[in-house]
Amino acid sequence: MATRIDGKAIAASVRSDVAKEVEVLKEKGITPGMAVVIVGDDPASRIYVNNKKKACAEVGIYSEEYALPASTTQEELLALVHELNQKEEIHGILVQSPLPKGLDEKLIVDNIDPKKDVDAFHAVNVGRIMIGDYHFLPCTPAGVIELLDRSGIEIAGKRCVVVGRSNIVGKPMAMLLLHRNGTVTICHSKTQNLSEICKQADILVAAVGKAKFITADMVKEGAVVIDVGMNRDENGKLCGDVDYAAVEPLASFITPVPGGVGPMTIAMLMKNAVSAAKIQNDLPV
Ligand code: NDP
Repeated sequence: MATRIDGKAIAASVRSDVAKEVEVLKEKGITPGMAVVIVGDDPASRIYVNNKKKACAEVGIYSEEYALPASTTQEELLALVHELNQKEEIHGILVQSPLPKGLDEKLIVDNIDPKKDVDAFHAVNVGRIMIGDYHFLPCTPAGVIELLDRSGIEIAGKRCVVVGRSNIVGKPMAMLLLHRNGTVTICHSKTQNLSEICKQADILVAAVGKAKFITADMVKEGAVVIDVGMNRDENGKLCGDVDYAAVEPLASFITPVPGGVGPMTIAMLMKNAVSAAKIQNDLPV
């Protein structure tokens, strides 16, 4: 029977560490500030934005919300990003995705000052991650590493398999495991013999976006199984990419959904906001 990695508790502990760092910065006269930009009225985006603002308030980070109508033009959004790039009290800029049709998400991200890019999606930050010289890490993969570290799971020398190669999860996840000396394989929709490859993993990370995709026959006995997926099952209930009930008896450690990777994402965003404030004040990160 696997040890269930409690992402909620670990995220609370990360947030508490961040709150202490914010206190120290405030003693130096620096209040980390974050701008959260939301365009349109997507209900899921609204929930994410509210959660991010709430998390900022809890750790003592100052936040500003910019809620723009769906009719906002590319020029208007770019003008706001440029204004926020210049704003001294704002250290982190977060543009909630997805943006309404007609707005070029990549162009918007490319216009955020890399020092304020707390999502770590800017090409400069992506490149820095490649070469292992980074200040910000994308929040979800960074959250996975934090879960492994705080659960005492060694990565070095382990066979790591990441299923999924998106720019926001799969690829940076693989890179972070590699930086930690894991031996990493990345799988995707064209991978052949997926089950066999997954079955070799000491650490298996699922970031596919398909409910219960990872089944027991794909998991080695004693493997660490990390489930990034956030899907709805046939009853509309939140579930991951891993068939938890079937895989749990085989694994040594496993993350549940909800309550695993999910809570870590916002906690790591708070950490990035503090790093951003330090960088912009020439303090060591
Ligand atoms: P994407 O849809 O961008 O990427 C999915 C990846 O899975 C792709 O690389 C795709 O391969 C691969 N894939 C799809 N089908 C198969 C298959 N049959 N076999 C092997 N690989 C397959 O999703 P994201 O990376 O953005 O997100 C993945 C999951 O993580 C989603 O459920 C999402 O909701 C969740 N998520 C959770 C977060 C959290 O905070 N917990 C944050 C971000 C995402 P290919 O490239 O070949 O198409």
